[in-house]
Amino acid sequence: MSIPIHQYDAVIVGAGLAGLAAARELKSAGKSVIVLTKLHPLRSHSGAAQGGINAAFAKEDSIELHEFDTVKGSDYLADQDAVEFMCQTAPELVRWMEKMGAVFSRNEDGTIAQRPFGGQSHPRACYAKDRTGLTLLQTMFEQTNRLGVDFLDEWYVSDIIYEDGVVKGVTAYDIKTSEPAIFNAKAVMFATGGYGRAFKINSNAHANTGDALSIVARHGLPLEDMEFVQFHPTGLAGTGILMSEAARGEGGKLINSEGERFMERYAPSKMELGPRDLVSRSITQEVLEGRGVGPDKDAVFLDLTHLGEEKINERLPELRDLAITFLGLDMVKEPIMIAATAHYSMGGIPVNIEGHVRKSPTEFVTGFYAAGECACVSVHGANRLGANSVLEAPLFGRHVGKTMAEDIDKLTLMDVSATAADNMLAEMKKITESNGNERVPALRTELQASMTENAGVFRTEDSLRKQKDLIKIYRDRFENIRIDDKSKIYNTDLQEAIELGHMIDFSAFIVEGALLRKESRGAHFRKDFDTRDDEKFLKHTYATMDENGDIETEYGDVVLGKFKPEARVY
Ligand SMILES: Cc1cc2nc3c(=O)[nH]c(=O)nc-3n(C[C@H](O)[C@H](O)[C@H](O)COP(=O)(O)OP(=O)(O)OC[C@H]3O[C@@H](n4cnc5c(N)ncnc54)[C@H](O)[C@@H]3O)c2cc1C
Repeated sequence: MSIPIHQYDAVIVGAGLAGLAAARELKSAGKSVIVLTKLHPLRSHSGAAQGGINAAFAKEDSIELHEFDTVKGSDYLADQDAVEFMCQTAPELVRWMEKMGAVFSRNEDGTIAQRPFGGQSHPRACYAKDRTGLTLLQTMFEQTNRLGVDFLDEWYVSDIIYEDGVVKGVTAYDIKTSEPAIFNAKAVMFATGGYGRAFKINSNAHANTGDALSIVARHGLPLEDMEFVQFHPTGLAGTGILMSEAARGEGGKLINSEGERFMERYAPSKMELGPRDLVSRSITQEVLEGRGVGPDKDAVFLDLTHLGEEKINERLPELRDLAITFLGLDMVKEPIMIAATAHYSMGGIPVNIEGHVRKSPTEFVTGFYAAGECACVSVHGANRLGANSVLEAPLFGRHVGKTMAEDIDKLTLMDVSATAADNMLAEMKKITESNGNERVPALRTELQASMTENAGVFRTEDSLRKQKDLIKIYRDRFENIRIDDKSKIYNTDLQEAIELGHMIDFSAFIVEGALLRKESRGAHFRKDFDTRDDEKFLKHTYATMDENGDIETEYGDVVLGKFKPEARVY
């Protein structure tokens, strides 16, 4: 079969806020650019962001406070140079979005309204009702269309072409027809979002299967800080669907089965507005100690009734709707039930501020970039603060797009041959023709349930060792999967099988990182090592995988700065 080879200056994989912002920069700089995305751009998970985007605008607020909150929130694992860059650029980025047409909610005096979020010293999250992400995503999508950026929607990118230390393009296939193609470029960017789908209870879109992480890892390249997965305190009981932090920001109270506002015990000064890791652990602890509510006693109440119908409809209409649809509870009239839900991936593909992907803690891959949730820059360290990610994605996306435009003038287009697609074609053929007896949905469900149980909010040596063994078994069982749909048209069975392979691979990184990190920091909590150990572990984890799926780990320095690590009390 002859495979088409398309040539561009830049290929962007992913059409969320990070990918679109980069594409806009590249096109404005006169470069040829194509965005490949497995979803329609407006279905990217960025569109699900409800609560807000941080920028220090208020008189009582300052950029330095934003930096401090972010670094403290990260449990001092964030790289302070990257945090500084993000917080300093934030006000300009929000204005930029506004100029391009994003309509933010306003105060009476016409200034952009800001709501409090967890772990913040001042209300700092700018928002568009509770549809912030969608508003920004639509704005960026309009802008890229206006400039005439090329898009291929419903294309699945399955590999990078990585030869002699250079990324020369990607291989992909059209989900609609299974037709393969090669995209050859001087610069390739991954902006593929997070990996929350590895867990049973999660707030993520079905598409957040972390494909890019495993693609990178399968080439022996490192992943950074994968053990840090954020569990959001307020997912709807049972499903994990997100009730944005805006619900607590607007005054939501957390209450256990005894009617206690239990955050008094865990974060007396911040109460419900403690940072996410702390509030998630508090909720889970209440449940474990038998003070849960709901049929399985595995949730707690989130009470918003005191806000009244008018305010709820004005500020939280989407949340009200979701709780009615999925729980049958109207938050205007009664408390709803929530529990911690896997939400955000702090770890990812290691990059520097310019978005260059690292080959090792100190070396870089030529022609390869990443930004947004799939990247680890690292501005969130061990725990991300609410409203810092909808900020990070377009901010670094835009910055990395600019870097790529500059680099492209110095890079040459490297030849690729049609054989570069052999791996992808072999994988597609193997899955389609396999006659094993393992089913993808069943295996995926087992992986997700065991990750939630053994590598979730609370972890121990035993639970992590158990999970490591299970992942080995899942990997063997994956060799024996069968799909029923053998057709070429919209073969979602095939896609889900490929995605499951990715989920198994990157889950092994989460578990190994967590096993070796014998301390508790941010979202990573070890019951058997329940304090932070700066002496040994104020370090980034860099892990690589060999052909057998075994993982090797080394540690790299954290970029410290004006904020010295201290105890994190709220
Ligand atoms: C429910 C929810 C609410 C949130 N609310 C907030 C909030 O209020 N504030 C905040 O700061 N953060 C929030 N976040 C986090 C934030 O929205 C995300 O971290 C951020 O939007 C990620 O943007 P991104 O551009 O990196 O990726 P995404 O928007 O996730 O986009 C990923 C893109 O990659 C593409 N892709 C992935 N794999 C492939 C592949 N193999 N081939 C081709 N294309 C591929 C997808 O099609 C998609 O276009 C929320 C997250 C969730 C889940």
